[in-house]
Amino acid sequence: MTDFIAILYIIAFALFIYGLMGLTGPRTAVRGNWIAAVGMGIAVVATLLTPGMGNWLLIVLGVGIGVVVGVPSARKVKMTAMPQMVALFNGVGGGAVALIAWVEFNSTDGYAHEPVYIAIASLFAAIIGSISFWGSNVAFGKLQELISGRPITMGKLQQPVNALLLLIAVVCAVLIITGGDNELLIIGLLVAAGILGLTVVLPIGGADMPVVISLLNAFTGLSAAAMGLALDNTALIVAGMIVGASGSILTNLMAKAMNRSIPAIVAGGFGGGPAVAAGSGTKEARPVRSTSAADTAIQMAYASKVVVVPGYGMAVAQAQHTVREMAKLLEKKGITVAYAIHPVAGRMPGHMNVLLAEADVPYEQLKEMDEINSEFAQTDVALVIGANDVTNPAAQTDPSSPIYGMPILKVNESRSVIVLKRGMSSGFAGIDNDLFYDPKTSMLFGDAKSSVGEIVEELKAL
Ligand code: NDP
Repeated sequence: MTDFIAILYIIAFALFIYGLMGLTGPRTAVRGNWIAAVGMGIAVVATLLTPGMGNWLLIVLGVGIGVVVGVPSARKVKMTAMPQMVALFNGVGGGAVALIAWVEFNSTDGYAHEPVYIAIASLFAAIIGSISFWGSNVAFGKLQELISGRPITMGKLQQPVNALLLLIAVVCAVLIITGGDNELLIIGLLVAAGILGLTVVLPIGGADMPVVISLLNAFTGLSAAAMGLALDNTALIVAGMIVGASGSILTNLMAKAMNRSIPAIVAGGFGGGPAVAAGSGTKEARPVRSTSAADTAIQMAYASKVVVVPGYGMAVAQAQHTVREMAKLLEKKGITVAYAIHPVAGRMPGHMNVLLAEADVPYEQLKEMDEINSEFAQTDVALVIGANDVTNPAAQTDPSSPIYGMPILKVNESRSVIVLKRGMSSGFAGIDNDLFYDPKTSMLFGDAKSSVGEIVEELKAL
């Protein structure tokens, strides 16, 4: 039986890795996801076959509840709400690890008869899992706009409070490892780590949020791997390490793209985050120039190069197919069309690539930020569709801005800018955007899909 279980685990790990390879591109991602899911199914079956598994009724009940809650919510979730769902699912993983550590503490009398390394791995998993659960809940709240996306800090108290919480969690762990078996110790550890998760993520806002979500994801993987070590469960170790490693690589890539260092983001949270500019986020009564779909169509029809700058609003409006239709009409008129992709446009890494791939936009037209930024100066019209923060010049010019230092798409270097959005609302970072008041910019107000649809009709009539 043990050999059979080991073989099943090996098949599962091979499928995880093969599936992960599929996730490197939108065309193979769905298949990759299925392959990895089958791998996970096999790993679950192998684990359940392990002798002395325990109470079958409880296991079936747990799996049943998971299926009833997970499957419908995953099927019903809108594409735009996917990031918060991922944050929530990720957090649940961390929470499960923390709860398993608590159960282990009880079933081993505070690790009384276990080797020290088991206690260390289990308590490490409990701390990181609890931070990840509560931190991910805050990330969910921010993405779902239940909590403000702007930094929420305790000012000067932030750093000492966080340090104290970490100290409490570590002291509880040390007391347990050195023989303490009072249940209050593990509860104290979980509560201190949980509050730390809240207080570390609440002060993080604006441009740093995507990096933090990815970091929390890596944390959950690490905590699962540590728990696997404590439980001697290979599946948990391998799956946890894959999540931990890929999450760490993604965090690193995103931090680099955002011109941030990971310690600085966490330290920013520890230090209370960057100050928000006085008055930023308030809607000043500055004049903006509005335009019509007809004028936009005429302006683009006489251009030789148009760059589409998609953002979160395009995802909300589900405008990608209409945008593609518009681009085809422009191309028929001999106009060059490109798409400017900012690494954190939308609400999840690769969000714009996924949407545009769904609308069959050719890959060669998708230009990463570094490449397209040098092309804006030769662009006649930059058509900003539901993007806001990723075009905000304050990221380059205003050191007090919460997004200061984030590289932006330099749309204001093009000859003219047309911004499609519904009103003057701010984006995720909650700040005003000077681009909208630039004399070169015209605003086409309305839902992005309807506005692009009107432009399409005008272009057809030209
Ligand atoms: P923003 O969030 O800055 O702005 C989106 C804009 O879209 C809003 O200002 C809104 O204005 C407009 N909008 C909303 N609905 C519609 C609609 N139906 N039609 C037209 N416009 C609409 O988006 P960006 O993509 O520019 O920036 C992404 C932000 O999200 C960054 O701050 C990033 O740090 C953050 N983030 C990114 C993550 C990622 O991994 N990519 C994860 C977490 C956060 P109005 O209401 O006036 O229409």
